[in-house]
Amino acid sequence: MKFFMIEQVFSQNIENWYRNNKRDLPWRHHPEPYFVWLAEIVFQQTQIAQGLSYYKRLLKAFPTVNALANAQQDEVLKLWEGLGYYSRARNLHLTAQILNSRKQLPQTAAEWLKLPGVGPYTAAAITSVCFGERVACVDGNVLRVIARTHFITDDIRKSTTVKTIQALVNSLIEYADDPGDFNQGLMEIGATVCKPKAPQCNRCPLQYECAFYRSEALPSAVPFKSKPQKRKVRHLHFYYSSKAEDVFLFKRNDKDIWGGLYVLPFEESNGKDCPSSTINASLIKKNTHLLTHQQIHYYIWDMESWYHSPVELKHFSRFVKGRDLPALPRPLQQFFNESFAKM
Ligand code: SF4
Repeated sequence: MKFFMIEQVFSQNIENWYRNNKRDLPWRHHPEPYFVWLAEIVFQQTQIAQGLSYYKRLLKAFPTVNALANAQQDEVLKLWEGLGYYSRARNLHLTAQILNSRKQLPQTAAEWLKLPGVGPYTAAAITSVCFGERVACVDGNVLRVIARTHFITDDIRKSTTVKTIQALVNSLIEYADDPGDFNQGLMEIGATVCKPKAPQCNRCPLQYECAFYRSEALPSAVPFKSKPQKRKVRHLHFYYSSKAEDVFLFKRNDKDIWGGLYVLPFEESNGKDCPSSTINASLIKKNTHLLTHQQIHYYIWDMESWYHSPVELKHFSRFVKGRDLPALPRPLQQFFNESFAKM
């Protein structure tokens, strides 16, 4: 008679379910390291529905590591425009340049981890899927599934809780037949079945092993997540001239928000009042844009002409209105789309 350990049943349920229920996603047809790496970077903090068109566009423009490495950073950022977290795109490009000089892409998570923008989750995803390496991926979806199956009620934002769950998944993957299917299955269950607000336990392959399912807890109770830190509030005043034929834009350095993107001349103030109160300008747009750690109140001022700009323009590049603009942060992208549609 053959006996199965609970961990073995758990792992096999995940793999079997994944093979029959996985979503049809492009990189799953040809799990080459470059395709999986690109997917993992695009879909960090991004839903599949939101990121899929970006993934396809990037792969069409840069079908190989070599093509990505030889692109200009501005080209990569332009294709990334609107996806946010631009350091992902800058690191993707930088890593492609590093890998381009090698004969083959790394085959272990330890080697991938040495590259810019590649964390433990991404490294494990690439090497478990492409090379069958037995390394566990723990993302937000996996944290939620394991917190529920094992009824872990500690704060999921704490590194000690993450370490506990990582150790559990590390032990579970030892029983997997195919580490890649196991990792993808666990993430897929989190993304499509064990949803944050309404887990669909009746179609879950882990139902019989799940402590949450047997409890009377509410989905909001497990996992427990403490309140996030308050966002830093910033006020940015951008200067624009609706009468001028050209737009002046400046490429931001990589150390602040929107690194590598282009912005209008701007000043920052402590409140909503424009720091250059002497300029002859009218407010044409104000709005708020939320980033993970910052709340950006932005104001766009229309000046008579660039001559009136309170900001020194000599370091700015000049672009013709309505023509191809470089990659912009979303607030400015929306502003230009609205302005040029009226032209
Ligand atoms: S049984 Fe329900 S709570 Fe448990 S893992 Fe499955 S979907 Fe999540």
